[in-house]
Amino acid sequence: MKPLRIDIEIPAFLHRDVEHGVFYCSEKILEGRVDRDAGSGIDLELADDADTESIESTVRGWIEQTIQRSLRYEDDVLQEWGEAAPFRSETEEILASKDLKVMGNGLVSYGPRYTRILQSLLEICEQLSASVEAEPFMTPAVATVEHLQRCDFLAQFPQAISFVTHFREDHSVIDRFAEQCRGTDGAVDCQPPAEHLKPFGMLLRPAVCYHIYPYFEGETLDRDPYLACAVGDCFRYESRNTTGIDRLFDFRLYEIVGLGSDETLQRWREGMIAEAVEIFTDLGLPGRIAGSNDPFFAAGSILKSTFQRAHALKYELEVPFPNREGRLAVASFNLHRDFFGTRFDIQTPSREVASTGCVGYGLDRILSALLVHHGLDLEQWPQRCRERLGIRA
Ligand code: AMP
Ligand code: ZN
Repeated sequence: MKPLRIDIEIPAFLHRDVEHGVFYCSEKILEGRVDRDAGSGIDLELADDADTESIESTVRGWIEQTIQRSLRYEDDVLQEWGEAAPFRSETEEILASKDLKVMGNGLVSYGPRYTRILQSLLEICEQLSASVEAEPFMTPAVATVEHLQRCDFLAQFPQAISFVTHFREDHSVIDRFAEQCRGTDGAVDCQPPAEHLKPFGMLLRPAVCYHIYPYFEGETLDRDPYLACAVGDCFRYESRNTTGIDRLFDFRLYEIVGLGSDETLQRWREGMIAEAVEIFTDLGLPGRIAGSNDPFFAAGSILKSTFQRAHALKYELEVPFPNREGRLAVASFNLHRDFFGTRFDIQTPSREVASTGCVGYGLDRILSALLVHHGLDLEQWPQRCRERLGIRA
């Protein structure tokens, strides 16, 4: 690795986004950290064969463009609770634990101990849904390119996309691949040539809620708000930002989606935030509710993301966490105004274009926060937390 220091003024409100986005400037960037102490500059670690000059110019250009296109916003903290105690474990210890198996970059299989906690978290989410009479939905883990294009996902989050493809319907192509992979020791090249594959027609879903909106296409809602809930694996390519079980490629997301008038959804979101604070207090996790924005690594989505901040469209529940930012977003509370209502022609009972919103609980992240705050020994977790999760003595 070789270090590269770029001296450039980066406003504090962009530190987090710049640190996440810098990896998409070049695959030769292995590490990146904004120098918060000096008040400006970013320190990078590059692969030995990296072209330092060209990377410096790319990163500099990208940061300048990002600063130029961003709407400045103030830190917006709605609420804070709990006492921050010393962390009881580090993310490396969690990854090394016998209760899970890392299956690839950002892919984790959980054993029974952690799976039971995840199931309990899921149950808490389901109780929450039942208490507000959210209707259950089940949706596919894959979405068509056309659908996510309609949801404006492709232009906004291109860095996160995972395409799905297949072999062309051609026996000779399929047989050739099978032959290529017939290795006795498993160590064979299994990359098919691009011309043997069909065009990418589908994507792995990045969130659960995208499949809910088309269900109501052309409809008038029978209530305001109509609440729907669904859970499933979601996929986001996080490049080198993938770390412990807090930033995965494949993670489990529970969502409650609201459709209705703008005012009811505002009130609904307030209620959902209050419920979440109660849940996290029971779990013994301190935290705060703060304004946020979706990550932007594509030039065109910077404005939209900072617009979210300026108009308080996204709040996150953050818990203290031993990472660079010192906190981790475990749940989000989003309003989309009439974007999906217009795209999918959905009306409120009073025949206005419906607004929508969604609340997402990242189950892996909540597990990660519990392990970091309470330690790897579940016996030692606070009594109230154990009761809430139904962990028996
Ligand atoms: P978002 O739709 O970006 O607001 O994400 C909803 C929730 O999903 C977040 O609050 C996190 O808890 C969780 N989440 C998002 N990205 C990841 C990831 N890469 N790994 C694990 N959890 C994630
Ligand atoms: Zn959503």
